[in-house]
Parts: sequence; structure tokens; C-alpha cells
Amino acid sequence: MSTSQELFERARQHIPGGVNSPVRAFQAVGGTPVFVDRADRAYIYDTEGKRYTDYVLSWGPMLMGHNHPAVREAVIRQSEKGLSFGTPTELEIQLADRICEIMPGMDMVRMVNSGTEATMSAIRLARAYTGRDTIVKFEGCYHGHSDSLLIKAGSGALTLGVPSSPGVPAVLADHTMTLTYNDAEGVRRAFAEHGDKIACIIVEPVAGNMNCIPPAPGFLETLREVCTASGALLILDEVMTGFRFGLHGAQGHYGIDSDLTTLGKVIGGGMPVGAFGGKRDIMEQIAPLGPVYQAGTLSGNPIAMAAGLATMEVISAEGFYDPLFQRTQELCNGLEAAAREEGIAFTTNCAGTMFGGFFTDAAHIQNYTQVMACDTQRFNRFFHMMLDAGVYLAPASYEAGFMSSAHTDEDIQSTVEAARAAFARFSS
Ligand code: PMP
Repeated sequence: MSTSQELFERARQHIPGGVNSPVRAFQAVGGTPVFVDRADRAYIYDTEGKRYTDYVLSWGPMLMGHNHPAVREAVIRQSEKGLSFGTPTELEIQLADRICEIMPGMDMVRMVNSGTEATMSAIRLARAYTGRDTIVKFEGCYHGHSDSLLIKAGSGALTLGVPSSPGVPAVLADHTMTLTYNDAEGVRRAFAEHGDKIACIIVEPVAGNMNCIPPAPGFLETLREVCTASGALLILDEVMTGFRFGLHGAQGHYGIDSDLTTLGKVIGGGMPVGAFGGKRDIMEQIAPLGPVYQAGTLSGNPIAMAAGLATMEVISAEGFYDPLFQRTQELCNGLEAAAREEGIAFTTNCAGTMFGGFFTDAAHIQNYTQVMACDTQRFNRFFHMMLDAGVYLAPASYEAGFMSSAHTDEDIQSTVEAARAAFARFSS
């Protein structure tokens, strides 16, 4: 078997940066990405057979761990009937029915192939429905790589955004306003000034793309309030949080009524699936019922629907979530205790089955600026010490960690012990 190093060199010949999604390249932490050969339960195995306890979980989808028998068997069974038909299937109805039954804000849903497609389509729909162009997003939130959403904050509060990638037209950035996460007053000010031009707010109800940042009390409620008052739509981007806070999403957990919701990751059980949905009168604007165009050759793919349905069935079982929440909390508590004992300034955020660790003296990390002020160098060294010890964390200090139902108490203990050894090396 080739080593990761050999494969990385080969990969770079014909794949930009050797990867099909940038963060996989270990650019932030340095070193060679782990090339994975197979995965099972809480573990991934590299091409040389080394086992890692995995807290990335394919960037969130594998809520039940890797290679879950129910999902694997559903995929095998369905694939024996053909891979794609380009026609409607009963599987799509079953998954749509189930999603609308459990997600509070969804009366209708359209399947797509990625989170990016879901958010891009939801934005188009919100603009069409309201007849307005401006959208509001938050610094540090990621909603996929469509042009309108690849925008960072401008120079001051209330300024319109600037493209965060070459190739995004400045005219599009002019329509995206980027505000500070967890700053309810900033949102009120923006709406006081521009509310009649704003089509929607799109927000991660718990931010998972600037490490893990839960909403401050009242923040999501303020978003709902200003949207209702100004006629803008509230889009909860639950691509990451969907089914990671229980069956009813972060919106169920926090009791926030959304107009549109985007889903991805868990809903496909590891297959490429996204979805957007919401209130019936809004969703009825989508083609072919309404004039807002949105389509996909492979959307609602039968194999992907079978994987999603099998996933929904497993996670709907009584008692699925409680041990998972508990284990996530135990990991955070264990990491904090180990850091304290070794005299390392470190804190965690724990939210449902998502978590984040921060090398900082600050007691609470609530927004992007605070995340960026943490000790990144220290995280990068920590990451590599954990990797050597067989623990696979996200290869960047601004990514959330994920727990699965396949992680055992022993996995948590050995992860905490590996962290303790790493912290001890910092302090010695
Ligand atoms: N929204 C959120 C909240 C995400 O976390 C992501 C991906 N990390 C996306 C959208 C984009 O999803 P995808 O990578 O499937 O396009």
C-alpha cells in the first residue's frame, strides 16, 4: 500500500492541491493529509492500516459512525435496482414526508446534492419571494461556496461585503451584508437602516465553521423578530446542525420559527445530499409550481434517498440522542480538566453533538474575532500530537468537532489521555 506521503505527491499532479475540497489539504496545520482507505464505527484507517478515532466524521454526516450496517445494507439493496432514473420515486416521497414531519419549519422540501446547492437555492427563493436583493449573513459563518455567500465583512459595521474569493463579482458583494455573530444590537441597527431592502437573514443557528459557537441567549430570537417586522425571511442553515441537536434540528432545540431551512450532511447518511424547505406558500414559488427556477439531474438520487431514510430510522429510535449528548459533554469536560491540570489556557464549547476547543484565556468564545485571537500555533502543534496518538481532529483551529453514536466511553477516555499527554508537552 502507498503511504499518504506518496499518494499526496501523486494527487498533486492532476488534482489542484491534491484534494477535492481545500480544508482536506492540511494547509492550516501543515504536514501531509491522511489518505483514508476505509472507515468503520468511530474509526478511520489510513492506507498503511493506522487507526484514528475520528472526530471529523466526513465533516459531520456520520452521526451514527462510519459504515453503519443499516445504511450500508439499504444502499446495497437499492443499488441492485439501478443507480439513477431521472424520474420521481417513492423513496423521495418517504424522505420528504419524514423530514416535514420532524423539522418544525418545513411544510415542503426540495432535494439537492449538496449544502451549497441548498443555500444557494434558498437565497434565490427568498429574493424572489420578497422582491428584494440584499441578504444578511454573519462573519465566520459558512454557507457553501455560491457567489452571493462567498462574501466577507466590509471594513466597518453596517458596510456591505467584499468578495472573499477572486471571481465573485463586486456587484454581488454589494448585495450581501455581513454582520457580527451574536451581536443582536448590530442586527437591530442594520435593520433600522436597511430593513426594507433585506430579503433574508441566513444564519447557522449554532456556528460550526468558526470552530463551534452557540448562539448567545436572545440572538436567534432577535433575528426572528427583525425579519418578521421588516418582511424579510429567516433562513436557518441547518446543513451542519440538522439532526445534531436531536430530531428537530437546532430550530427545535432553541424554539425558533424559520421561514426556510437548509439541510445536508446527516440527511444523506454519507451520500451527497442537501435539501431546502420551509413554509408552504414560499416553497410553492419553486418550479414547476411557481416561477423560481431550480433543478438537478441527480437530485433525489435513489441510493442517496435510501441512505437518508435508513439514517432517519436509526436516529428516530427512542434514546438515540441522550447518550450522544452526554458523551460530547464528557469529552469537553475531560479536555478542560486535563488542560487545567497541566496548566494550559484552554476552553471548550459544547453544543448538542458538536464541540470545539480553544487555546485561550477567555472564558467565553462568542464570535469570529475571538476565535481568530486564539493561539493557532498551539492548536496546530496539538493537532499533530493528537494525530500521532491516533486521534483525528479537524485540521484547522476554526472547525467544529463532531461526536457519533459509535464513539465509546473508552474512545473518549483515550482521547482525553492523548490530550493530557499533549498538554503536558506544552507545559514542560
Ligand atoms: N452550510 C453549512 C452550515 C455548512 O457547514 C456547509 C459545509 N460545511 C455548507 C453549507 C455547504 O455544504 P456542502 O459542503 O455540502 O456544499
